[in-house]
Amino acid sequence: AKDEGRGICRYYEPGMDSLVQGKQLLRADLRKALGRGELSLAFQPLMNFATGRVGAMEALLRWTHPQHGPISPDEFIPLAEETGVIVPLGAWVLHEACLAAATWPEEITVSVNLSPVQFRRHGLVEAVEASLKASGLEASRLQLEVTETVLMQNVADELEVLHALRRLGVRIAMDDFGTGYSSLSYLRTFPFDNIKIDRSFIADMSRNAQTNAIVRAVVELGQSLGVTTTAEGVENRQQMQELRAMGCHAGQGFLFSPPVPGSEVLALIERLGTE
Ligand code: C2E
Ligand code: CA
Ligand code: CA
Ligand code: CA
Repeated sequence: AKDEGRGICRYYEPGMDSLVQGKQLLRADLRKALGRGELSLAFQPLMNFATGRVGAMEALLRWTHPQHGPISPDEFIPLAEETGVIVPLGAWVLHEACLAAATWPEEITVSVNLSPVQFRRHGLVEAVEASLKASGLEASRLQLEVTETVLMQNVADELEVLHALRRLGVRIAMDDFGTGYSSLSYLRTFPFDNIKIDRSFIADMSRNAQTNAIVRAVVELGQSLGVTTTAEGVENRQQMQELRAMGCHAGQGFLFSPPVPGSEVLALIERLGTE
């Protein structure tokens, strides 16, 4: 904490040192987590509104700490990014997600989150290629989700990686659309295949006419760009009906299913497809 003070003298905050220490311990544990089998993937369906069936499954990383139990990815992903451990972790996620998807019905795609840190290191394109090859999964059945922070620094290099990934035949989605400062300019910089509208907009859509208008405009923007739109965090029927009426392509959220362990995916696909 003292190092982070940037020369500003702060009063002593009790508990701060233990928080920092806790983070350091967690960082060290995370480095070993993969080898110890503490990591797993959960999958959450993206429902295609036109067919009413599962169109894709998003892979979400899970860490069950031997002492602390489940730790949220919002907590450990940033630690993994700080230490660079996200690179081997991310490669593992890609590999496992492709292996899993290869056992699903052919029309179902798998969507994998990529960290900006993975873009800054060499070997991402090779890692994606290796996962496709090892699993035998068609490239068109893999979608990679990136947030706009991926294009924030050193844009030229990251853009080249995005284009190289696209050349492999995978789909590229812009995640958490609308939460950053320049979502629109990134749409101009790179032709994404799918826009995932951040769940904060969906949550507010039914109460706030302005938010509703923004979501509608994003869906229309997608339509005129030839880009599909997916709504995140769909929690009730009203939201689903409004989104469908707007022409949004797909929805993801607790209304359909929470993320489930890999072993439950096939049963879930069956259940959702026949409801
Ligand atoms: P995300 O990519 O935006 O993933 C969606 C998150 O929203 C997931 O949280 C999911 O459980 C949650 N969610 C889904 N439906 C609903 C809903 O209806 N309501 C609400 N309130 N939440 C919903 P999760 O699994 O805790 O993941 C959090 C974040 O951690 C992800 O946000 C993503 O940014 C990151 N993450 C997860 N797995 C990975 C990974 O393998 N690699 C990287 N780089 N990041 C990951
Ligand atoms: Ca995501
Ligand atoms: Ca998201
Ligand atoms: Ca998010």
